[in-house]
Amino acid sequence: MSDCLFCGIVDGKVKANLVYQDDAVVAFKDVAPRAPVHILIIPRKHVASVSDIAAADHALIGEIFQVAAKLAHEYGIAESGYRVVVNSGADAGQSVFHLHYHLMGGRQMTWPPG
Ligand code: 5GP
Ligand code: ZN
Repeated sequence: MSDCLFCGIVDGKVKANLVYQDDAVVAFKDVAPRAPVHILIIPRKHVASVSDIAAADHALIGEIFQVAAKLAHEYGIAESGYRVVVNSGADAGQSVFHLHYHLMGGRQMTWPPG
């Protein structure tokens, strides 16, 4: 989508600190990190939110979690613990409507999230 910020990152039109990419998934550092490790993992394909995930996307979603686990190891939070968070819709605070998984770790998290 031409007016989507994260499609812009996928296309290289918007700068980002990329930490992983393959033919289906891109990961980059969050511009306003809320934890010592805060990485966003997104599909290259534009999917607006969790509510828009289709049956054809099932393998893609599985791959995103594999990338999350790989990055958690790389960034040293696999043992200490981490969250993989998706905000979906207004009440959850979703602000960018291109599906993204927040990989967050490196500090003690609280529960429930605010
Ligand atoms: P949401 O609130 O939709 O769950 O998460 C959007 C995230 O994208 C926020 O954590 C925000 O800091 C991050 N973000 C917004 N704009 C940019 C950007 O231009 N570059 C990067 N790297 N992150 C962004
Ligand atoms: Zn997009």
